[in-house]
Amino acid sequence: MTETLSEIRPLVAGNWKMNGLSAALGESAEVRDALPALGKSAPDVMICPPATLVAQLAAASKGSALAVGGQDCHAAASGAHTGDISAEMLKDAGATAVIVGHSERRADHGELDRIVKAKAAAAHRAGLTAIVCIGETKGERLADLTLNVVNRQLAASLPDTATAHNTVVAYEPIWAIGTGLTPEAKDVAEIHAAIRKNLESRFGPAGKGIRILYGGSVKPTNARELLSLPNVNGALVGGASLKAVDFLAIIRAYG
Ligand code: PEP
Repeated sequence: MTETLSEIRPLVAGNWKMNGLSAALGESAEVRDALPALGKSAPDVMICPPATLVAQLAAASKGSALAVGGQDCHAAASGAHTGDISAEMLKDAGATAVIVGHSERRADHGELDRIVKAKAAAAHRAGLTAIVCIGETKGERLADLTLNVVNRQLAASLPDTATAHNTVVAYEPIWAIGTGLTPEAKDVAEIHAAIRKNLESRFGPAGKGIRILYGGSVKPTNARELLSLPNVNGALVGGASLKAVDFLAIIRAYG
């Protein structure tokens, strides 16, 4: 099936990072319970909790519009990899997606593009949607290298198995993550247009339908402006996804 841009349903995904004990499931329950009242323009909504909460959140969200994702997976399906979890395990726990290549994984765990690509391919193998993160550092932006970096990361991090159904690209300028800073709207629009062009030239019709999320200090106060930009098909939200009231305000930017 091919999709055109006008048919792309947006996605707002929350990345809880290493935050949240069982008590935090009260926040996700509030989000889940608010979704049925949203109108036709409502986006798809997902929360990616820490791995310890994936099964509980998936069980609590079963039958609702709230989807659950993991924050990382190993490239292998199983094996001697102490502390890691596989895409198959996330799927078994009830996740439908997994974030791969988040800049914190790239920085803290030395994940290179080829590792990110293998993880995205693992997600596809397991039947999960891979949310593949890309984005430049402050230094790269100041050196006017943003488009080079983004195009290089797309080429090296996306596997050939990517389709509009199993892959989401999250453009997250590293200097905007958790800092309260965001690029100017015109810059976000320019970079997302370049990402779209790259996806179309590599994947053809599928590239037209792959969702491109913006991530980096999305808040209730800036969501409407950022999410209404062309080729911005939703958001990956960190800090503001931890509180239901803030996350719902971002989701309602589509109202
Ligand atoms: C993120 O880490 O993916 C993110 C976008 O974080 P924040 O919204 O807190 O900047």
